[in-house]
Amino acid sequence: MTPKYPDRVTIAHLPTPLEEMPRLSKHLSGPRLFIKRDDQTGLATGGNKTRKLEFLVADALAQGCDYLVTTGGRQSNHCRQTAAAAAKFGLGCSLVLTGEAPTSETQTAVSGNLLLDQLLGAHLYWTGPRTRQEVMLDVAAELRTMGHKPYVIPLGGSNVMGATGYVKAMEELTDQLQAERLNVDFIVFASSSGGTQAGMVLGAAIYNFPGQIISISIDHPAAELQTQVAALATATATHLGLGTVSLAARIDVNDDYLGEGYAIVGETEREAIQMVAQIEGILLDPVYTGRAMGGLIDLIRWGAFTRGQTVLFWHTGGAAALPAFADKLINN
Ligand SMILES: *Cc1c(COP(=O)(O)O)cnc(C)c1O
Repeated sequence: MTPKYPDRVTIAHLPTPLEEMPRLSKHLSGPRLFIKRDDQTGLATGGNKTRKLEFLVADALAQGCDYLVTTGGRQSNHCRQTAAAAAKFGLGCSLVLTGEAPTSETQTAVSGNLLLDQLLGAHLYWTGPRTRQEVMLDVAAELRTMGHKPYVIPLGGSNVMGATGYVKAMEELTDQLQAERLNVDFIVFASSSGGTQAGMVLGAAIYNFPGQIISISIDHPAAELQTQVAALATATATHLGLGTVSLAARIDVNDDYLGEGYAIVGETEREAIQMVAQIEGILLDPVYTGRAMGGLIDLIRWGAFTRGQTVLFWHTGGAAALPAFADKLINN
């Protein structure tokens, strides 16, 4: 199976490092642990959306678009990386963020990604009571009446273009594993809009990655996310000229760590963030990787892996959001 990749622009610092976490492994009396540092993709503090944007921006430029329009939560890492990619390629950027605009009283809460969005020159729109999709289509329509050509990127950059970034990432990982003569039994990571997982499972099939890929769902019941990932992986295979690829058996979602809901930091996230910071000097984020690592730590404690196995935690970024959650992260 040889994928026909569409054009991409160069944004990310690749390959991202593959590092061992021996102290964390020892601390948990767990399996051998590695971490794939996609928090180090280099785009205005990095993250997994950078790989997706390499294909999305190339497509936008090929279509002659002059604006990137996308959407996400208030502390969206995807929106911040999109704003940075737009700046780098001289494009305008409009972001549709969930909720209400900060008022003068809540202006002090403008930190983390929300601060960076503004430094990167993005125009911000707030959904209020409306849906993200509605507002995004309005913003795009208004740009058109002003003579612009907007390129609309869905939530999380999770369409076939975005997912292609993670098909390519699996080529990169399997090359690294081969060069270092390493076998990985499990990949564990955070999944939300599904583009990362769809790309990974398709890439695993293409590049013969033999391990199991387990996502920790951030905000969806497992069956729902599985269906979404399967549909996107299939569409991406078609997009890459691969025909029918059987992937359903590879789509493994764990929804045991949904906690109190999206972006609500609890003891699971707090413990994971502090542990990995204090034992490995690596910063996780409050919304995605803190939760996914909390899940991995719990799975290790429950004996889901043997000591002889190797688990790779795929760091998807997000630490830029930490300051916005300061009061939830420190025990006092
Ligand atoms: C967006 C994001 C994810 C989830 O990736 P999807 O492709 O949307 O599933 C995970 N971690 C971080 C830090 C993110 O910003």
